[in-house]
Amino acid sequence: MKDRHLEEKPACSVKSAPVPAEVGCPGCGTALEMWSDETDIICTSCGCIVQNERRSAN
Ligand SMILES: [Zn+2]
Repeated sequence: MKDRHLEEKPACSVKSAPVPAEVGCPGCGTALEMWSDETDIICTSCGCIVQNERRSAN
């Protein structure tokens, strides 16, 4: 069992490779590619910050 506070793992111990997922910008609707290891990305169209909901989901 793993503690929640250990979620921030060092880069040298990455277990699973990140995978891309297509997300829609809430601001302009542009389809953006977000990787599973990213917490947020900036829309290339309008500059809106798009949070990674899959990562922050509890
Ligand atoms: Zn946008």
